[in-house]
Amino acid sequence: MNRLKLLPFLLLILFACSTAKKTEKSYIAFTGATIIDGSGDAPIQNGVLLIQNGRVVAVGPKEKITIPENTTIQDVSGKTIIPGLINGHGHVGDVKGIQAGHYSKENILDNLAIYARYGITTVVSLGGDKKEAESFRVVNDTSFSKRARLYIAGEVISGNTPQEALAVLENNHKMGVDFMKIRVDDNLGTSPKMAEEVYQAVIKRSHELGYKIATHMYYLEDARKLLEAGTDMLAHSIRDVPVDESFIGLLKEKKVSYCATLTRELSTFVYEDTAAFFSDAFFLKEYNRETIQPLLDPAKQAQMRNSKSAQKNKQQLPIAMANLKTLSDQGIPIVFGTDSGMPARFMGYFEHLEMEMMAQAGLTPMQIILSATKNAAQYLGLKEVGTLSAFHWADFIILEADPLADIRNVRKMSQVYVAGEPVLSR
Ligand SMILES: [Zn+2]
Repeated sequence: MNRLKLLPFLLLILFACSTAKKTEKSYIAFTGATIIDGSGDAPIQNGVLLIQNGRVVAVGPKEKITIPENTTIQDVSGKTIIPGLINGHGHVGDVKGIQAGHYSKENILDNLAIYARYGITTVVSLGGDKKEAESFRVVNDTSFSKRARLYIAGEVISGNTPQEALAVLENNHKMGVDFMKIRVDDNLGTSPKMAEEVYQAVIKRSHELGYKIATHMYYLEDARKLLEAGTDMLAHSIRDVPVDESFIGLLKEKKVSYCATLTRELSTFVYEDTAAFFSDAFFLKEYNRETIQPLLDPAKQAQMRNSKSAQKNKQQLPIAMANLKTLSDQGIPIVFGTDSGMPARFMGYFEHLEMEMMAQAGLTPMQIILSATKNAAQYLGLKEVGTLSAFHWADFIILEADPLADIRNVRKMSQVYVAGEPVLSR
């Protein structure tokens, strides 16, 4: 073999050595914190979270974890560590401020960075995803720089006939989406609803191709039929009537998760007045006065006050909240989601508002955390995220206060980590 032929091999060895050096980062141990690992187990007191190369190596009480030599120790005594949160129903890339129509690679990254700064380290975008989103899906897991992970559903599948809808589905499949999403709703009687034969065909084909399918729905009777047809996730609340026993039985039998998106309802009427959260510093750190100005316009506010659909949604919200509590009490897996990333549904902040509303509905802080960690990962089939356990990504939040005492303490973030890298500036 002559020298010229050897060259590529030498380069390859050099490259291998340099990347080995680059990836063999030392261990970091976060010590002294209370750790809520997202499994639903009791918090670990005086815990150690050991990470390396962006992943969790070990997590447990101090006496059970061996910290290797040359580990960088970060003493976080008195703080609480929770997993990075998963939004099981958001949207990414189209909205800038409160305006839609900005879909681009740059804006996807920008949106994902906002989510991450609020501690939302994984977002499942259920629709409106275009080609640009492909490269930001979770598969390119080496390039996280201060942003949330992204899973996509592509275009929301619609059509008047099975053929029309299946054509959209095939396009999504070609694009390489992670989920399929349909909408079975008449928008409070103002538009036609997807026909049963259409969604039955779409659900069947989604399963043939190996996809989970999430459904936007509103009415209990539709939810029932959708469960019979095989939907894998109810992506909103049932808002027309209280859920009944036969429906709960069906949910249990089908092992389908439920995603309440209470803040989606809130967003439809809350701007009839000046929203209380407009003066919250935690909101204003990402969304300034200029951004929210259109929502303060008295004419717009009056429009919302006089809007039939807005007032209907306002009236139905208590039903949605009661249904969430009933289903949670019945052991139905609740998956966290907000439908944020649409105009005036403020990504990142709305997740914290959602948690607060879930608490108002009667869920415990632990149940709420579980919905945004283990449940979301398990029921959406997301790998290596959700719980803080060995080999999972080191996506976590360090909190200044105990979230089990008050879920609003999740807002008191001192740092967010995605793949072991700090997201917030110090
Ligand atoms: Zn949505």
